[in-house]
Amino acid sequence: MPNINLGIMQALLTEKGKKVKSFHFHLEFLPFIRRANPRVWDQFLAQSEQFGVEYMGLDYLFASLLFDDRYRESEDLFKERLESIGLTLTNFDTLREITRSFIEYAFGKISPHLQGANLVGFSCSHYQLSSSLLLCSMVKKVYPDVQTVFGGKDCSGTFASELLKNMPYVDFVGTSECELTVESLLDHIKDGSKEIVNVVSRGENGTIQKAPSRPNTSLNRLPLPSYEMQDFPIPRNELIMPIEFGRGCPWKRCTFCPDESYNILCQAKSAEKIQDEIGYYLDISPDLRNFFILDSDALKDPKTILEVSKFLEEKGLTFHYAEFRAERMNRDVLSAILHFGTWASNFQIGIETFSDRMLQLMNKGVTALKNVEVLKAAAELGVPVQFNLFTCYPGMSTQEMNDNIRVMDLIAHILVYDNILIYPGEFYLPTDCPVFMNPEQYSIRKHAESIFSVIFKDFPMPSYSNYPYPYQFDNDDEQYRLSTIIREKVDAIKSKNRLNTYMTYKDISDGLEISICLNGNRTSHILTGKEKSIYLSALEKIREAGSIAQEFDMPVEDVSAMLQTLEQKGLVLLSPDRKSFLSLATKA
Ligand code: SF4
Repeated sequence: MPNINLGIMQALLTEKGKKVKSFHFHLEFLPFIRRANPRVWDQFLAQSEQFGVEYMGLDYLFASLLFDDRYRESEDLFKERLESIGLTLTNFDTLREITRSFIEYAFGKISPHLQGANLVGFSCSHYQLSSSLLLCSMVKKVYPDVQTVFGGKDCSGTFASELLKNMPYVDFVGTSECELTVESLLDHIKDGSKEIVNVVSRGENGTIQKAPSRPNTSLNRLPLPSYEMQDFPIPRNELIMPIEFGRGCPWKRCTFCPDESYNILCQAKSAEKIQDEIGYYLDISPDLRNFFILDSDALKDPKTILEVSKFLEEKGLTFHYAEFRAERMNRDVLSAILHFGTWASNFQIGIETFSDRMLQLMNKGVTALKNVEVLKAAAELGVPVQFNLFTCYPGMSTQEMNDNIRVMDLIAHILVYDNILIYPGEFYLPTDCPVFMNPEQYSIRKHAESIFSVIFKDFPMPSYSNYPYPYQFDNDDEQYRLSTIIREKVDAIKSKNRLNTYMTYKDISDGLEISICLNGNRTSHILTGKEKSIYLSALEKIREAGSIAQEFDMPVEDVSAMLQTLEQKGLVLLSPDRKSFLSLATKA
């Protein structure tokens, strides 16, 4: 997947009459290694995927060259970590030499463009910082007058200043989106009286100074990305084109997420603009059929999703990823997403947990009931979704775990659907998220250094890129135990299928029959009269007891009593205040 920010910068700066050349070296590195040594590549890739690129990924190879002296002094630590994932220092050193050849090749490619260049920028978002720093250091060695700027999630938040303090060849670090930032920098380089925005830089005496922040240009006014695809070492039918539906999270408050520190203006693109962009790629080549939707919440405006879905229907495109918050999802939106085309991988919904108290600890802005409503709709409509399930979390105790398990048991017949993938995972601690900034408040003790910094002896930056920090919960043993229980619950549910785990409803002559099969036990319930009507009214959408009372002309106490009976039978899920509910049975 090419880098969309580079594609947009290429188009935007060209439109403004500037001479610009962009390189997508991340597309070239993997084929380069594979060509050089397929065996070592396969081993390294498999192990780093299994254990996480944060623990040992390609960025460490570039880092070992960038911080060569420290690497030499820290070989024992590298050896230990490599061995813990089944690799050896010899594997690493072989790849290190290939990496050295690659960076020399990359420098050779950019060199002809450096003479007379004003600015060299690096876009680093997925553990690409060390490779970019290494290349930047080579640029500055030969062209000390060229200005350099870094941007992207790898250098956001408080780390931006750390980077400047420790890396003399970095002149500016962006603190927001790139478009306005780079334009202002280029104008400033040409005319020193022009204002720079959205960067930190070094002052005359070496102090770090922060330029004023300005909101970015409207996404609808940005040009369509421009790529020199003939330079990519990947055939067009294998390229995945990134598409922005919008930018920035509309919520920015989850306690585990550093999103707020990215300073990204929350904006949604119009349906027309998205359609123009997809049409533009199809005009470039009918082989460009793979897309990846970039946006921390692609559901900023449900109307856009519905319109885009109509446009995409019948186009036969393939989508590889998209992220949606559950909060505003409904059946219309879910059906629309289903009509985008083929989903090569399930799209992501921010579910996180089924415990309301955990959702509050996370400040997720959604309820367990809403999470269940969305998953039930996805299951019934056959929409391919996936979600992460936190198995431990700061402040989590047996009570929250029990809540979570209770709801998972109640909705096991929904979770067994093949189109719902669950990824249980431990909490990990990124910098700049609220938990990181207030560890005592969240009852955790964080390590003094990130997982990256700790592998280099005497590393000057405790934070580095987006690497998480090791930490301990105040109730570490309990969290470990709870985590195991939640993982086992997911495995137990996913080992079942819809033939042995179901809760279905069907109309029969004397009422509504609900048939349940759970752990081999079959039961059934017949609902009649108002109980049946009330149950049917909440099959697709959360209802409130108050509005039900009005609709069915009943005292609200009677509705509440009825809901309590239905809850005892395991047929509905109630909100913690017991004022809202959802009927859980699916259509037979
Ligand atoms: S986790 Fe998602 S919804 Fe929460 S703040 Fe981050 S991007 Fe926004």
